[in-house]
Amino acid sequence: MRILVVEDERGMAELLRRGLEEEHHSVCVAMDGLTGLDEAEGGEFDAIVLDVMLPKMDGFEIVRRLRAGKNQTPILMLTARDAVADIARGLDAGVDDYLTKPFSFVELLARLRAVTRRGGSPVALRLEAGELALDPQSRVVTRAGSEVRLTVTEFKLLELLMRRAGRVVPREVIVEAVWGTADDIGENTLDVFISMLRSKVEKGAENKVIHTIRGVGYMIRERG
Ligand code: CA
Repeated sequence: MRILVVEDERGMAELLRRGLEEEHHSVCVAMDGLTGLDEAEGGEFDAIVLDVMLPKMDGFEIVRRLRAGKNQTPILMLTARDAVADIARGLDAGVDDYLTKPFSFVELLARLRAVTRRGGSPVALRLEAGELALDPQSRVVTRAGSEVRLTVTEFKLLELLMRRAGRVVPREVIVEAVWGTADDIGENTLDVFISMLRSKVEKGAENKVIHTIRGVGYMIRERG
């Protein structure tokens, strides 16, 4: 694959370059935001590894401009540990996945494989989990072929979870991504919405789809 790394810390940039080249990828490194945006717009990359804090233009702005320009190159965002607001903002801007620093190289490779498998057009891609299917463009959700009617908020919630199927999405990340600021909503609002969503998408089903990870968050998994 051709991979663009946008990272201003020289040590980290070199580490990424060397590691990715060892895996036989071809790597281009940009050390500031403007150069990164330029490279991303000009080059044909299979994936972009993007740091958030960058000189000249931050990672969010790069994603926003790329997506506004219909550039759908898969983007894996690197954030500081526990930067929940950053993660939510990144997902909202259109990144495909994120990794918090410090991370293992094995995990980085796995995430890169996952985002590139999704095909480079995350917006248009139909999401599936078990009998559930969600079409982000037509905003239609079906279960075993029959349409499930959801409210706007329920749809947002389900889309967020389905995009990261198989991984736990922390409560704070969900709240930030769906409602914006965590201050505005009550303590159990998320749980209430999850239970409404469950009653619609799991009604009469043998297997649960939405799983509660106690004290952490929620995750979608095909088999319980
Ligand atoms: Ca940085």
